Amino acid sequence: MREFAYEALPGRVVFGVGSLDRLAEEVERLGVAKALVLCTPQQRGQAEDIAARLGARSAGVYDKAEMHVPIDVAKAARAEAQRLGADACVAVGGGSTIGLGKAIALEFGLPIIAVPTTYAGSEMTPIWGLTEDGVKKTGRDTKVLPTTVVYDPTLTLTLPDFISGPSGMNAIAHCVEAMYSETANPIISMMAEEGVRSLARALPIVVKQPDDIAARTDALYGAYLSGASLGAVGMALHHKLCHTLGGSFNLPHAETHTAVIPHATAYNIGAAPDAYERLCRALNTDDPAGALFDLAVSVGAKMSLAEVGMKEADLDRAADIATQNPYYNPRPVTREGIRALLDDAYHGRRPRVA
Ligand code: NAD
Repeated sequence: MREFAYEALPGRVVFGVGSLDRLAEEVERLGVAKALVLCTPQQRGQAEDIAARLGARSAGVYDKAEMHVPIDVAKAARAEAQRLGADACVAVGGGSTIGLGKAIALEFGLPIIAVPTTYAGSEMTPIWGLTEDGVKKTGRDTKVLPTTVVYDPTLTLTLPDFISGPSGMNAIAHCVEAMYSETANPIISMMAEEGVRSLARALPIVVKQPDDIAARTDALYGAYLSGASLGAVGMALHHKLCHTLGGSFNLPHAETHTAVIPHATAYNIGAAPDAYERLCRALNTDDPAGALFDLAVSVGAKMSLAEVGMKEADLDRAADIATQNPYYNPRPVTREGIRALLDDAYHGRRPRVA
């Protein structure tokens, strides 16, 4: 076996149907006096239910979470947390809401109790993001890692198919890159492999029968493993590309990951033998890139960057930005290679392994 260094992240996970009933107890366990409940405007109802469950330990509901955490939104939320004397945040929602909790924790160091309702995985990572003047800055700080995560699959029953599919593919992308990470280790790779297996099995059922609680449970379990993988090891080409496409061309997060991951996999897989073996096992295939493409198609995802909102005229600039600064990738990143990858993703072609 190869040598490795692995530092496990702290954190308590409470998982299972009905685990929301244990939220108040979990908040009490942390000795929290007043938790501010965070959400998007669309999830205010869910957040109010949670605030009611917390009773006197709720500082109120703040419903202004937005994608990519604009700095003004972060500042307003910090001011509100301070005004209400909150000593913790309960973030109920997807990556955007959990990201807002992280922005508050980054400033005040208060604990986050995360209640995830998508498959993005942010709840398991010490990664924060803040967007200022159209540029998203990210960093790692264990201060923003949620202290407790309560995963209740019941809360994902309302997640529509057009969000469930791409959100699950976004989770799979974390697993794929964790397997060929510069800092990959066998413990995280094992979790990432199981994450892909669980999500790939569950997602087609989730989009066809959104109220299938067994499939919802498997998908959320896969999302937990994917977030833990993302939090523990560094990412590579795929995440760099998606960060560029989201940040510089304003493309939607999960949909962009979905359209790019089959192509990033095709680009890298020949240089990543351990990831290849694991993905073949998890997806029951000998062509992981093609299998990821077929999976995304089967969950009704948009498979071309054109449909996601990219302009063909921007492909050259995207390739330039994504190859400007060197970063780790199992296969060398060349301008020509990335331009060809982007062309395939733009047109939504089924990938061919290079
Ligand atoms: P999101 O949080 O923006 O949610 C998308 C939409 O779905 C929102 O309108 C939300 O209110 C709604 N929604 C969420 N759960 C729902 C449910 N159960 N029922 C009905 N509607 C629901 O989307 P996301 O993909 O979860 O998060 C994307 C953001 O998270 C991006 O900004 C991304 O960069 C960030 N992210 C960060 C990390 C990290 O480690 N820091 C990891 C993954 C993603």
